[in-house]
Amino acid sequence: MKVAIVTGAGRGIGRCIAEALAKANYSLVLNYRKNEDELKAFVDEIGADALLVKGDVSSFEDAEHLAKAAFDHFGRIDLLVNNAGITKDTLLVRMSEEDFDAVNNTNLKGTFNCTKHVAKIMFKQRFGSIVNISSVVGISGNIGQANYAASKAGVIGFTKAVARELAPRGVRVNAVAPGFIATHMTDVIDETVKQATLSNIPMGKFGEAEDVANLVVFLASEQAKYITGQVVQVDGGMAM
Ligand code: NDP
Repeated sequence: MKVAIVTGAGRGIGRCIAEALAKANYSLVLNYRKNEDELKAFVDEIGADALLVKGDVSSFEDAEHLAKAAFDHFGRIDLLVNNAGITKDTLLVRMSEEDFDAVNNTNLKGTFNCTKHVAKIMFKQRFGSIVNISSVVGISGNIGQANYAASKAGVIGFTKAVARELAPRGVRVNAVAPGFIATHMTDVIDETVKQATLSNIPMGKFGEAEDVANLVVFLASEQAKYITGQVVQVDGGMAM
């Protein structure tokens, strides 16, 4: 049985990745911050073998606890999916230092924190795979998302550096860059902005969490055994 850690698994893309991994026969270590009861109900519903670990990925100590709890419980870690992420959108002129730091602390530093602690274990195992959830915004930028774009571009650079470091140890590291996926994160976006975004998507529709989850499962699989250091977009052609 393979073991996967998914951060921010309580809802949205993270939850969908967890479900897809359970279907692919992974045992799960699901990180969450809030709504433990809801996550427990979801795990029961899909009948997954899962350990739930509460924690804030922006905390170095919480990330260390997550990696340790996973290894202590299952004795191996095959996959880490750094999915937890937040937005605090506003124009640069209005963006506070707190808005910038909060987004980077979760999206970029959180990815560093979890990767650092899990990589130590994968290094010793000499196997493993890491998939970081970036964004097309980290590739092309977006008005009102300077903090988010910086964090997601940072995740791409981080992915490539770590992929080079871990490749000799048999550990692959890739990033997925979703476009606009319908979740809680995008629910809050103004309808006129959504329509403007839609007009820039060649496929003419928003993506679904499953579109991201399917790619994560593939990148983690043996079928992707010669793929590392890549950024794969799931965006209906939004950024080319
Ligand atoms: P949601 O807001 O629906 O879910 C985000 C999840 O991350 C929540 O479960 C949340 O938990 C968790 N989370 C947030 N901060 C932390 C933290 N510090 N520690 C642990 N967990 C945390 O967003 P999506 O599912 O849409 O996004 C998932 C990922 O995909 C993010 O990295 C996002 O940036 C990326 N993405 C999403 C796109 C989209 O269009 N939706 C496009 C491109 C990338 P809680 O609710 O408890 O805070």
